[in-house]
Amino acid sequence: MTPSDSPINPFETAKQQVDIVADRIHLNGGLREVLKHPKRELTVNFPVRLDDGSFRVFTGYRVQYNMARGPCKGGIRYHPQVTLDEVRALAAWMTWKCAVVNIPYGGAKGGVICDPKAMSQGELERLTRRYATEIAPLIGPEMDIPAPDVYTDSQTMAWIMDSYSMQKGYSVPGVVTGKPISLGGSEGRGEATGRGCSYVIREAAKDAGVRVKGGTVAVQGFGNAGSVTANLLHDEQGATIVAVSDSKGGIYKAEGLNPHSVEEHKRKTGSVVGFPGTKSVSNDEILESKVDILVPAALENQITKRNADKVGAKIVAEAANGPTLPEADTVLFQKKVTVLPDILANAGGVTVSYFEWAQDIQGFFWPLNEVNGRLEQVMVRSYADVHKTAVEHKVHNRTAAYILAIQRVADAIKIRGFYP
Ligand code: NAD
Repeated sequence: MTPSDSPINPFETAKQQVDIVADRIHLNGGLREVLKHPKRELTVNFPVRLDDGSFRVFTGYRVQYNMARGPCKGGIRYHPQVTLDEVRALAAWMTWKCAVVNIPYGGAKGGVICDPKAMSQGELERLTRRYATEIAPLIGPEMDIPAPDVYTDSQTMAWIMDSYSMQKGYSVPGVVTGKPISLGGSEGRGEATGRGCSYVIREAAKDAGVRVKGGTVAVQGFGNAGSVTANLLHDEQGATIVAVSDSKGGIYKAEGLNPHSVEEHKRKTGSVVGFPGTKSVSNDEILESKVDILVPAALENQITKRNADKVGAKIVAEAANGPTLPEADTVLFQKKVTVLPDILANAGGVTVSYFEWAQDIQGFFWPLNEVNGRLEQVMVRSYADVHKTAVEHKVHNRTAAYILAIQRVADAIKIRGFYP
């Protein structure tokens, strides 16, 4: 389910989050209003030639939420239910995510209302090139740098980079991130989200007194973010992965799974289900399993008032965006569950996107060990910042991450002053 399917308007939620933190850190009215408004929004309606020779008009958006701390950064989503309010909310969350990990970016997001599953590669290419051209006045390495999101990928980014470069008359690799390596993509980008998540889990486990080596892990959503987190917790930190799931169901093995073999099984059969020697488990059983670490890495709105008190994990690391509803946060906090909020736990992806952009504009590329080493530094420092803020303000990690992020953006706006 996308946020736009939910009865709650995601932009209303995003604004409420700002208000809650603004009250706590005593932000004045004017500054608070700035933080509750997107800086710039573009709606584009554009025709695309379909394979049958007809034309259809598509609608797309690009929202630049705030650029006080640097150029805007945020993905582009292709989905039938994209709405302007959803894009605004996602752009706000990108602003806070970049600020939590203290990379020099503001936040943006883009979307096109379309059904990519019902379109051919040729139609998707024409749609992407025309959308890129329509938003070209707003994007660029110094202004706003898009990246992949739901149903867009490195091929989409290659088309955007090419369309933008054709108009400029020279190659501009730094206009998008998440590109193929051959076009200026970064080593390590593919596994950055899961890798970043594994570092944050390692750090939080020390503070929470939870063992990772020999500890048990359940992962909901064995896709990119989930499988990489599982592999790294298993290979580098000695954790026992006892349960994983995907959209077709879940599997459990008390003695532990080899996540690489599960990945291989999923590649061959299309699902983790049916992996030899495992017992089938439901989505609820995954979320409620008695493990040391639960990694929700699939969808929004998974931990709610309904099941929060049944969560059996000591640490919940949100590789996915928005898996926990605010109502559940309080329950988990009271149960002394350590929640590692999405804007921290999955920020490894945007961090290595930042490295990709930095490499592109220097024209100087780093080896994998340098990318991973720098990613580790950013994630360790960011977790420490969030934990310190949580202790100081006596709040849970999500509120702490928002306090840190919103304070950083507010400070940048304040010190720049209001123009003119
Ligand atoms: P993905 O498509 O690679 O993986 C998603 C996985 O979730 C798939 O295995 C799918 O089968 C599974 N899934 C879907 N519905 C499910 C259900 N009902 N129960 C259990 N599993 C289900 O996507 P991804 O890139 O890994 O993204 C997953 C989440 O992580 C999303 O919320 C995304 O926004 C977030 N995220 C990803 C990145 C990244 O760099 N990949 C960065 C930041 C945040």
